[in-house]
Amino acid sequence: MSFTNALNEHFPGAKPESEYVAWSLEALTPHGFDNPNTIACVAVCRDELTRPFAALVRKTWGEAFSLGSLGGMVLLGRTGFLAAMHHAPTIGGRQRYAFFAMAHIGIGDDGEIGRCWRKGVDEPSGACGALLAFRSELHSGDLRVELDQDDVEFSLLKQRLMRRLKYGYVPNLSRLTFLTHEVIIHDLERMLETAVDPTTSNYGVFTGIQIHGPDFKTWIWPGTSYAIVNSVRHNLKI
Ligand SMILES: [Zn+2]
Repeated sequence: MSFTNALNEHFPGAKPESEYVAWSLEALTPHGFDNPNTIACVAVCRDELTRPFAALVRKTWGEAFSLGSLGGMVLLGRTGFLAAMHHAPTIGGRQRYAFFAMAHIGIGDDGEIGRCWRKGVDEPSGACGALLAFRSELHSGDLRVELDQDDVEFSLLKQRLMRRLKYGYVPNLSRLTFLTHEVIIHDLERMLETAVDPTTSNYGVFTGIQIHGPDFKTWIWPGTSYAIVNSVRHNLKI
C-alpha cells in the first residue's frame, strides 16, 4: 500500500501541517483573535519530529507556551497550566488563547503504520515511541502501571490509556493513537474547566493527530476544533 492510500484509509481528511496551521488563524480571525492579542499553547510529543509543527504555530501565532509531554499528553498539571494562563496578553479586558494538542504517528512510504525516518539515521524508526513501548508492554503481558518516579510521564500515559482499554485487549497502533487523542482532549478540557475563566477569556481549541510521512513531511488529521467566545461555543471546520 502506498503512503497516500494508508493516510486516506486511516486518517481521512488529513491536511499538510502548514495548511492546517494557516487555517487556524483564518478560522479564529473572525472571532477577534490575532497574533498580537493571543498566546498559543502547544501540546505535542517531545519527539523532534513534532517540532516543525510547533515552529509553524510560533511563526503564525507568536511564541508559544509548551504544554506537552510524551505522546502529546497534557500532563503538566494545574500549576503549569495556570502559568500559561497568566502569560496571556490582556487586550480590551480579555485574554485570548489558541490551544493546539496533538497525538502523533509515522507512516512509511510503503504505507506501514508506525514507521518513520529521521534525519541522519539510515534505519527506519518508529513513532510514537512512547505508544509503541506501551503497546509492547500490553503485548508481552508484563504491564507496569504503578507510578515510577524515574519514568513519570510514561507511567501517567499508561495509566490514562489503561482506563480506556478492556483487559487483555491490545489495540493496533492506529487505534491506540486515536485513543491517545481522546485522552488528550479529555485532559485538556478538564484543565480548561479548572484554569480558564470564560467571563474574561476567549479561546480556540485545535486537536488532532500529526502524521509523519515520507520526505520529512507532516500531515494533520483534524480532530476537534472550536472557539469559545464570550462563553459561547463555535465549532470550526477545516
Ligand atoms: Zn512520540
